[in-house]
Amino acid sequence: MPTSAFRPTRPLPYGRQNITEADVAAVTAALHADYLTQGPAVSKFEDQFAAYVGAQYAVAVSNGTAALHLCALTLNVQPGQRVITTPLTFAASANCVRYCGGEVHFADIDPTTGLIDLHKVRALLEAHPPGHFTGLIPVDFAGLAVNLEEARQLANEFGLWIIEDSCHAPGGFFIDSKGQEQRCGNGRFADLAIFSFHPVKHIATGEGGMITTNDEQLFHRLLHLRTHGITRDPADLVREPDGGWYMEMQELGYNYRLPDLNCALGLSQLARADEGLARRRQLATRYDAAFAQTPGVTILAPGRPGHAYHLYVITVPDRKGLYDFLKTRQIFTQVHYIPIHRMPYYEELGWRAGAFPLVEEYYAHCLSIPLFPTLTDEEQDYVVACIEEFVVR
Ligand SMILES: *Cc1c(COP(=O)(O)O)cnc(C)c1O
Repeated sequence: MPTSAFRPTRPLPYGRQNITEADVAAVTAALHADYLTQGPAVSKFEDQFAAYVGAQYAVAVSNGTAALHLCALTLNVQPGQRVITTPLTFAASANCVRYCGGEVHFADIDPTTGLIDLHKVRALLEAHPPGHFTGLIPVDFAGLAVNLEEARQLANEFGLWIIEDSCHAPGGFFIDSKGQEQRCGNGRFADLAIFSFHPVKHIATGEGGMITTNDEQLFHRLLHLRTHGITRDPADLVREPDGGWYMEMQELGYNYRLPDLNCALGLSQLARADEGLARRRQLATRYDAAFAQTPGVTILAPGRPGHAYHLYVITVPDRKGLYDFLKTRQIFTQVHYIPIHRMPYYEELGWRAGAFPLVEEYYAHCLSIPLFPTLTDEEQDYVVACIEEFVVR
């Protein structure tokens, strides 16, 4: 056991939500209000979230996966179209292309950051005739922002759209070529960006998601597809209304709306987002300092400006050993991620082990250790002590 006397009084997962009395009060107020769904909290949450990331438009949706699906629909992904993403992400980043019948292709990661390697994306694009690929879905993995200015140059050169999967990075940013901070999801470089409000993410609404964009046309299409492809807007109608009830279903959409209750919680959580982000960064700095001296522990992408730290990832020689050991100490780590191309579903589509050696090597050793705003210094020191106990023995 670690030498210090401190023992945590609760299990320590890799991530968890932070619900306060203010959150409870906000949801209670929404329950007492006139609408359980599609009330005033929805557009308020959208407006405040858009302002938070610096985008013009935001569309609240039922979860991050629905956000990705709506983006793929809005960008008209068609059967047979080819889209490039990273193998190091949650399956939904790729699945949204499959929902529309498109083909998913991958480019390997930069092992020092865990992000898709844009040089490899370029090589892939150059190896095929123009028009071979139609889109790019980069992921701000673990909270580190992809350099979307570079991705945009590439996309412009090869005629691609970009969906930024920013589920890990609300509040994160990269520094552009002019030295300016570019916030994840600000819509400057990507056509569309998506976020998730699953409880392990920075902002929790139970289930929930958001799409941000600066493109007014895409914004209107998203609103339409979010609610069955139905419109009541007089400006959009293709026929003469025959009464006050009149509305038109103009294309095949879905019910991907986010209820008022969840938006009320989201608003309350968003008000504390900067606080939570600051604590995540503080904890990451403490881990960086602790592991700088630990032989056998390598930190993924330490000390990067703008990192939003959804995850704190270390790599170790005996990952399974450490995972199992920490579990006996009530520390519940996780692996992010099993590379998508190694999933049985994607192997059935023709992908094989060895196709992306850098992400496969990363996967063999990575571990996401506890990182969430309510993790105390004492709990974190205990995590560090347990990891050191395992790796030095
Ligand atoms: C969480 C997550 C999603 C999906 O979000 P849900 O709200 O769980 O549907 C998509 N992409 C990434 C990178 C995620 O982390």
